[in-house]
Amino acid sequence: MAVDSPLSSQLGPPVCERDAKALHFIEETTSHADSVQDRVLTEILTRNSQTEYLTRFKLNGATDRETFKSKLPIITYEDLQPEIHRIANGDRSAILSAHPISEFLTSSGTSAGERKLMPTIKEELDRRRLLYSLLMPVMNLYVPGLERGKGLYFLFVKSETRTPGGLLARPVLTSYYKSDHFKTRPYDPYNVYTSPNEAILCPDSFQSMYAQMLCGLLQRQQVLRVGAVFASGLLRAIRFLQLNWPQLTQDIETGALNPKLTDPSLREYMDKILKPNPELAEYVRHECSKDNWEGIIARIWQNTKYLDVIVTGAMAQYIPTLDYYSGGLPLACTMYASSECYFGLNLNPMCKPSQVSYTIMPNMAYFEFLPRDPNSFGFPRDSPPKLVDLVDVEVGKEYELVITTYAGLYRYRVGDILRVTGFHNSAPQFHFVRRKNVLLSIDSDKTDEAELQKAVENASRLLREFNTRVVEYTSYADTRTIPGHYVIYWELLGKDSANSPTDEVLKQCCLAMEESLNSVYRQGRVADNSIGPLEIRVVKNGTFEELMDYAISRGASINQYKVPRCVNFTPIMELLDYRVVSSHFSPASPHWTPERR
Ligand code: AMP
Repeated sequence: MAVDSPLSSQLGPPVCERDAKALHFIEETTSHADSVQDRVLTEILTRNSQTEYLTRFKLNGATDRETFKSKLPIITYEDLQPEIHRIANGDRSAILSAHPISEFLTSSGTSAGERKLMPTIKEELDRRRLLYSLLMPVMNLYVPGLERGKGLYFLFVKSETRTPGGLLARPVLTSYYKSDHFKTRPYDPYNVYTSPNEAILCPDSFQSMYAQMLCGLLQRQQVLRVGAVFASGLLRAIRFLQLNWPQLTQDIETGALNPKLTDPSLREYMDKILKPNPELAEYVRHECSKDNWEGIIARIWQNTKYLDVIVTGAMAQYIPTLDYYSGGLPLACTMYASSECYFGLNLNPMCKPSQVSYTIMPNMAYFEFLPRDPNSFGFPRDSPPKLVDLVDVEVGKEYELVITTYAGLYRYRVGDILRVTGFHNSAPQFHFVRRKNVLLSIDSDKTDEAELQKAVENASRLLREFNTRVVEYTSYADTRTIPGHYVIYWELLGKDSANSPTDEVLKQCCLAMEESLNSVYRQGRVADNSIGPLEIRVVKNGTFEELMDYAISRGASINQYKVPRCVNFTPIMELLDYRVVSSHFSPASPHWTPERR
């Protein structure tokens, strides 16, 4: 039921007073995007005017865009490394931000094989909470009645470490779930989760997932939406159910909790809510024991109206699998965010995944856009490109996102490529095109071409004693399995057929590649189980020549042809797979610890 509110919104009639305020805020902020951006930049530059970073560039207190743009360079994480190092090592002076750096957020983007450390300040939590608070008011415009049930969300905390100077370093969501903003959030009928805080905050990923799944099953009739942050996480939950339903149903039947759940606060909570329920156990057992799991989500959680998961960007590869398990439930991508800054939200969350556009909220940071010339690589240092302001981007064009944040990143290249699809009031809306330099991704891992090359080089050392070398390679993120895994196609050239590398040696090559990949990949393999063992598929000699012939037959220039280092086009996959002579999997987990090297 819509409320009559003086705060009307062109987005649609709000369902309650709180929603009316949120929608009004969106309208106001997007209608005055340019003046909000002006205010944000002025605030950031005023409060940080005495920081070491800003004084270095002689802003002399100026807060206008022209001076800012003419004096401050556009930077990447690598440029900030010295400052980040000093902060991590305990320097508490105002280097980047006048407000003390409260912790580091560990990005899934890496630098030199380790997660990037993003400085943040306490008040950023308020900005994140503000963006979260806008999501349901928008969703309520499209899906009525969500206050009558609950959300089954699989949410997890990950391990955290401290820098040498004592600052916490952890992923942004871990920081958010552990904050009072989340833990002691006031009751909100539109945001009731089946997962208790005890389960979400449990550091043991098995116990956390088990408890969240059990709570979801116990409250299956109340569940109106099912979600996780990324599509890969939701599929991992489905896989977990496939592996653990016998024990889960036994717990439900008997009312006695699996003894593997040892976390005291989790046990205490579960003991309170778990009562013998043979009827429910029988229902779940009946569904799960079928060979066909098509539509399992809609069968178990029959009242589910949509899946709340990000399926844009690298996660688009999971859409067919999600459709299979959900029986085609709508997929809602609600927001676009990062460790550096939360950016914006999807004002039409029930649209098709291919139509998703995110509206960047002008109050979150100061945004600039680096026009993309699809034919150029980078830009010369002596003629810096002209960056475009938020309200000046053009529909249809692609840009790289550059941000200036309250926490002390100035003209920082995030690495995301966005295409403008339209405007909401004066705020542009963007299709997420891709992240720069990402070749392979299964979960939050991002492997670039250089990392893959290094990994192949390191692994192929093991072939030397067999007088064998890797003459060509390419790769593929295989997401048909859950969890997905990297497949690397190798064409080998051996000088001595009597002494060719054995299966055991090639397995060790798989492991050597994994050891060489970045820490986000290895954490996915070891701690999160979100990535399966790497596979090498050895192909027949001459396969890569055939690949080139195929590309040329489709119009590639023979002079400019380069072996693609990642493939996903079905005819090419078929060409490669048809020529596989042997396949080998990593036999063990690579090395990983939460500590940084
Ligand atoms: P992290 O800093 O590890 O949280 O990763 C942030 C990155 O994840 C962003 O810069 C994007 O590349 C990607 N990302 C976040 N939200 C979305 C989204 N809604 N769609 C596509 N990619 C996203």
